[in-house]
Amino acid sequence: MEKILSKHFFNPEARRLSFYLQNDGYEAARKALTCMSPQEIIEEVMKSNLRGLGGAGFPTGRKWSFIPKDSPEPRYLVVNCDESEPGTFKDRHIIEWTPHTLLEGVMIASFAIGAHQCFVYARGEYVRYANILQTALEEAYRAGFFGKNIFGTGFDLDVMIHLGAGAYICGEESALLESLEGKKGWPRLKPPFPAVSGLFGRPTIINNTETISYVPVIIRNGGEWFSRLGSLKSGGMRLYSVSGHIRKPGVYELPLGTSLREIIYTYAEGMRNGRKLKAVIPGGSSTPVLTAQEIDVKMDFESLAAIGSMLGSAGVIVMDESACLVKALAVLGKFYQHESCGQCTPCREGTGWMTRILHRILTGRGVKGDLENLVRVANNIQGNTICALGDGAAMPMISFVTKFREEFESHIFHKRCTAVR
Ligand code: SF4
Repeated sequence: MEKILSKHFFNPEARRLSFYLQNDGYEAARKALTCMSPQEIIEEVMKSNLRGLGGAGFPTGRKWSFIPKDSPEPRYLVVNCDESEPGTFKDRHIIEWTPHTLLEGVMIASFAIGAHQCFVYARGEYVRYANILQTALEEAYRAGFFGKNIFGTGFDLDVMIHLGAGAYICGEESALLESLEGKKGWPRLKPPFPAVSGLFGRPTIINNTETISYVPVIIRNGGEWFSRLGSLKSGGMRLYSVSGHIRKPGVYELPLGTSLREIIYTYAEGMRNGRKLKAVIPGGSSTPVLTAQEIDVKMDFESLAAIGSMLGSAGVIVMDESACLVKALAVLGKFYQHESCGQCTPCREGTGWMTRILHRILTGRGVKGDLENLVRVANNIQGNTICALGDGAAMPMISFVTKFREEFESHIFHKRCTAVR
């Protein structure tokens, strides 16, 4: 399978502009800016079936089409590189190994939506990788790819890289905008949606790093070509971050619709130390867990939704029989409690209650009714909060307890962990 974004991963030379130009770099941007209208670019991206690869999966071309056409107001492109979902490390690889691909995507997307200013919001802990991106950006500016009158077309574009301060919630798009405006990273109530009123109240498109990075190849090879690489409604390829108890953890670029079994047993070379597979979180820590019997599912948005889970950020976390799922869930619960911004009562209080129940079970003090309470609290959070963090905290609780109830009951009633040591 031909690689697109990962073709030059782990080759430091690939970060340089000279290398990128030798490999047809910025030719898709030149084509877009000199031979295509913004509407033609949006239509090509629509044909590609490119979906938001940060987690939401919203069709990218459609999102771009929501920008008001005739508004005289400035509009912005914001790239979400605040990659903080546990189990997800693909965007880091993009800015570390192929930063110019992202920048070329930024140029095309900005032109398509009529933005003259783009902000790349990078996770605070990614300072090393943001510096690599900054170096690439400066190189591109010196070569005339950014700034005034790009390719002699009269189109101007400036790009600024902004580092966050380490809050998971700033990966939520409206919290990200608040943070970028210099305020506390609190998610906003929607509507209005950012395409109408986003950064500084102006029309704004927010796309994930990986999503934007696939735009150049779509313009180069055509939307239909890209679409055919993936499944029916989820176009093209994507980067799967695979971690946990497997032989070969890493980032794998594969078509949307590749089976989870193939990812684990063929690409990641199976389970470590000959252990048995117990559970898999398929799309980053906030997505519902799967059992070993469910791994024939295709990794695309529709197939995972059909079995009650989500593709999310495609951060695959694999757990073998030695994993204590009570402990794993307690760790997750603590994470979401810590990262809740505290605006909504169900999320602020509920994440604390769930964490305390799990801690009690884990330390051998669980009582009858704990599991019912855990699920009840999670159900009261789900759908009752401003942003998706509440759902992200609740879904693992419900799915872990439902699918692995015996393991939780063993901790409560027999004070015994069933994990195989
Ligand atoms: Fe904040 Fe949680 Fe409400 Fe999101 S769901 S706004 S993180 S309190």
